[in-house]
Amino acid sequence: MATIHPYVDGGLKKGGGPFAGGTLVCECTTNPVKVKINGDIAHNHACGCTKCWKPVGANFSIVAVVPTEAVEVVENGDKLTVVDATALIQRHACKECGIHMYGPVDRDHPFKGLSFVHPERFEEEGWAEPGFAAFVSSIIEAGYDPSKMDAIRERLTELDLAPYDCLSPGLMDYIATWTAKKSGVLAA
Ligand SMILES: [Zn+2]
Ligand SMILES: [Zn+2]
Repeated sequence: MATIHPYVDGGLKKGGGPFAGGTLVCECTTNPVKVKINGDIAHNHACGCTKCWKPVGANFSIVAVVPTEAVEVVENGDKLTVVDATALIQRHACKECGIHMYGPVDRDHPFKGLSFVHPERFEEEGWAEPGFAAFVSSIIEAGYDPSKMDAIRERLTELDLAPYDCLSPGLMDYIATWTAKKSGVLAA
């Protein structure tokens, strides 16, 4: 069976409704980085892009957004480094274990003010399950066999993770609306 991500490969676990927030922890056994998220996550999804952090063996990441103002580095923040300072998403990774702890968007963009996080790193359970799969074709860029993409899309559909080769229609419309308002073709 096509492997997606360990969190969903055994079947999609449904989240427990509204989530009060929690603490993301990296994989270091000593002095782990801890990042507190003060509130719920949104737009949780599986992502096939080559930039997101994924556990070993996973073809997709699990990634969601939170307001950047809800992000609070509480322990061992000195171990964090920005993976690619030129990228839209400023992914802050632990220098030792490599896990991306949070990635704020600070540039002028529809996602400005949001930070990308990997909910599987929460110590707590109960966050909303992923709702779709983004950038599915991009797993080929990471070396996935293009002839096996039908099986990947079938498996994603079976898991209720509608496969898209960009973001979901809702998020694409959101980005286009922001762009149209900025250019003035739509009233702000
Ligand atoms: Zn670490
Ligand atoms: Zn991604």
